[in-house]
Amino acid sequence: MPEIKIELTKNPKEKVKDVSQMAFGKVYTDHMFMMDYSDGQGWHDPRIVPYGPLSLDPASMVLHYAQEIFEGLKAYKTSDGRALLFRPEENFRRMNKSCERMAIPPIDEAFALEALLKLVDLDRDWIPEGEGASLYLRPFIFATQVNIGVKISNAYTFMIIMTPVGLYFTEGLQPTKITVETEYVRAVQGGTGDVKTGGNYAASLKSQGVANDAGYSQVLWLDGVHRKYIEEVGAMNIFFVIGDEVVTPILNGSILDGITRKSIIELLRHEGYTVSEKRISIDELYEANQNGSLREVFGTGTAAVITPIGALKWDNKEMIVNDNRLGEISEHCYNTLYGIQTGELEDPFGWTIEV
Ligand SMILES: *Cc1c(COP(=O)(O)O)cnc(C)c1O
Repeated sequence: MPEIKIELTKNPKEKVKDVSQMAFGKVYTDHMFMMDYSDGQGWHDPRIVPYGPLSLDPASMVLHYAQEIFEGLKAYKTSDGRALLFRPEENFRRMNKSCERMAIPPIDEAFALEALLKLVDLDRDWIPEGEGASLYLRPFIFATQVNIGVKISNAYTFMIIMTPVGLYFTEGLQPTKITVETEYVRAVQGGTGDVKTGGNYAASLKSQGVANDAGYSQVLWLDGVHRKYIEEVGAMNIFFVIGDEVVTPILNGSILDGITRKSIIELLRHEGYTVSEKRISIDELYEANQNGSLREVFGTGTAAVITPIGALKWDNKEMIVNDNRLGEISEHCYNTLYGIQTGELEDPFGWTIEV
């Protein structure tokens, strides 16, 4: 790959001092990474440029047919001032899996990681400090061919942008309430549910809005065929502690293969917990809640790491979990993973890399 050209900003922005009260994704760092693709030339012209708006032809295909994919990961500042990334190679591996499904040409994963490291290094003073604070990194690729006919685009842009964030959920590790979606579905096998693509989110926004209006933070999706097996929360995978077993829905082709999910499974198994990836229905969950064996529910995802869930509404039934208090395993998972990510705890798995 050619060298990454760097054009520095002439107008550095004021860095956010206190991110704790800041809304997610409002302010972006001084620079961004870009690289273009065209049939014939392949991926070319990698560059870091000042952050700013794009100029796009209105007939750019992504605006009409949504051929795009994205990733999300975080850089943390350690207490001794180093910058750490958590399993970034997994993000680029998954990005290429997403590309494959969305008919987007693959990227060179090692090169993409090199570009990410360069960009984070350049804007490293933007990594905020403080409990839960991080720099959220968003790599994405979208179709840029000017064509309103439906086909596979012959041109793409790959970008990475970065935004300082505080705690994802401002209430911290307080259990949240979610609602089980019984009218709409998110994905089916053979579709794009296991791909990080914007279309999955577009199709979920209506449910999300209804849930928010009713006082719930997120929607729990059921499978699209039987409408009974638990899938995920849409931006998070989900875990249940039932008796002495930790259970999470098995990757069935319509659930996203979360890196936090995978890390929690590896971590808990390493510590001797029984973790089962299996099909679990909403009726089974309700039954476990009724008979008292459902001890904890939590979501996993890069944004919040662990989101404890204290209540689930399912039609006219309400399941209260662990008296709506933070559970032991949820808290342990958060402390351990967050500790590794921020360099406060030893990293026996070799998950973090230093920028
Ligand atoms: C990104 C995402 C997740 C969480 O994945 P992580 O790699 O753990 O951040 C879960 N579900 C969906 C639909 C996602 O897009």
